[in-house]
Amino acid sequence: MPKIYIIDVTNRDGVQTSRIGLAKLEKTMINIMLNEMGVYQSEFGFPFTNHEVSYINANLELVEMGVLKPIVLSGWCRALVQDVELSLKQTTVKDLNISISVSDIMIKGKFQGRKNRQDILNSAADALDYAREHGIKTIGLNAEDASRADMDYLIEFGLVAKKHGADRLRYCDTLGYDDPFSIYKRIKLLAQETQLPIEVHCHNDLGMAVGCSVAGAKAAIDAGVDAYINTCVNGVGERAGNADLVSTILAVSKSSNMAPLNLLDEKIDLSKAWQIGRYAAYAFGLPISINQVGIGNNAFAHESGIHADGALKDAHNYELYDYKELGRGEPILVDTGRQITTGEYGGIRGFRNVYDNLEVEFKNDKEACQVLELARYANVHTQKPLTDYELRFIAKYPKIVKKIMTVAPPVYNED
Ligand SMILES: [Zn+2]
Repeated sequence: MPKIYIIDVTNRDGVQTSRIGLAKLEKTMINIMLNEMGVYQSEFGFPFTNHEVSYINANLELVEMGVLKPIVLSGWCRALVQDVELSLKQTTVKDLNISISVSDIMIKGKFQGRKNRQDILNSAADALDYAREHGIKTIGLNAEDASRADMDYLIEFGLVAKKHGADRLRYCDTLGYDDPFSIYKRIKLLAQETQLPIEVHCHNDLGMAVGCSVAGAKAAIDAGVDAYINTCVNGVGERAGNADLVSTILAVSKSSNMAPLNLLDEKIDLSKAWQIGRYAAYAFGLPISINQVGIGNNAFAHESGIHADGALKDAHNYELYDYKELGRGEPILVDTGRQITTGEYGGIRGFRNVYDNLEVEFKNDKEACQVLELARYANVHTQKPLTDYELRFIAKYPKIVKKIMTVAPPVYNED
């Protein structure tokens, strides 16, 4: 029976978004939290981009060490041999999504006559062949702007993908142009004709990213293939954002038509929703809106007379799901007295105090001093007070953290 899997793209689409971004350590925390949440795959960066290389290789070391397991970490690059080649040269990435535009409006508007429909097919085929020949484990071929592409051409593109060894085809509603009815029809046909598993990548320009993702995934399932929905934590992403991770999981698992079908990857652990949503809000510096699905302050709040009375009698009167399912319910303790914090200018005593409170112990003073120095650098790197989660990670995997934070700009001849 085909299933619906989640591929989170926060560390790719999310961080490439205008005005927002994450430090490499924060990207790593997101990968770890996605893994704890049972998310199938994290599209974790750009392996052909210089400043991503140390972070990418260090995170792939965490995979080797079994820290990031079973999540798949996949890179994103353009469907060009040179991008795949460079990705393989400078990182140990094993899984890739390669992307190229497929709508006439983009082919004409972006390539300005340098590429036609056939050139796009050739470019995709060459990049796929190269990736296959050089040992890439899973390859997704991304059809950028699929929702505005000619349907017959999109199917032809999908068949080329299949012939040249793509494992999945990503249907990108790049501009959020589809509605649930149109995407259902298009993906059903595409999946029927190609029999390739379909990734559904939707944007929220018309406020329908989650609805379209669910409809698109259902279409793939109805055509007999697996569906992989692309999400971002807290719905970040280009312009109006991507499909929100928690909303998508809830929509697939709790909505009237979808819930009884039980299509969601059973590894998903919704109880980590609260943790990842709050962490991402902190790391991006974007507050969670009061009415955000599942994790907003009002998601389980009732005030008006009829609602409060009904919810008190039986929460099911006004709630579709329980807050505990999302990992909510613990009180948040805020210390209002004396506090010792640590950061880029912190010293050994304050630092020991912070780690003592986390009940993290060091073998000896030498180890403590080394971790202190690293925590200072981590604060230089994130420019925000380090969270307990980050401090624990720094103490546990100091060598990896050092690599993650290493960014060396290229040296030029004239330097
Ligand atoms: Zn996108």
